[in-house]
Amino acid sequence: MREMKSATPHVVCAQCGATNRIPAVRLGDDPDCGRCGRPLLDGRPVELGDADFERVVSGSDLPVVVDFWAPWCGPCQQMAPQFAQAAGALKGRALLVKVNSDDNPHTASRFGIRSIPTLVKLDHGREVSRLAGARPAGQIVQFAGA
Ligand SMILES: [Zn+2]
Repeated sequence: MREMKSATPHVVCAQCGATNRIPAVRLGDDPDCGRCGRPLLDGRPVELGDADFERVVSGSDLPVVVDFWAPWCGPCQQMAPQFAQAAGALKGRALLVKVNSDDNPHTASRFGIRSIPTLVKLDHGREVSRLAGARPAGQIVQFAGA
């Protein structure tokens, strides 16, 4: 097992925005948010948008992988189950986020998203790498590097 930078990494709740400190050893145990009681890391992608994206991704100590997508995009629809599968495989180790680029133009333009799907990997809100085009779950897991 790889060492985390912190023994109690911060995870920001995508539901209520509360910052939780979760002992690293418990990250994979379906921790709930200390404020709202909803699941923090249940192995499913979380939907974020212009209103909450910044707070959740910059406040989280886990690596974040963002899928920029839109409902009309065929390859995005095809990748969705792959992305969900990757989220399950990375449960407790990375946060997988979906951003609908049509509904959230501020976030999409901040990252200069010109084609979708585009995957962007973030470290505390800063981009570290990106991949354009639909990818299978295995490649998404590899990309997350968690
Ligand atoms: Zn919460």
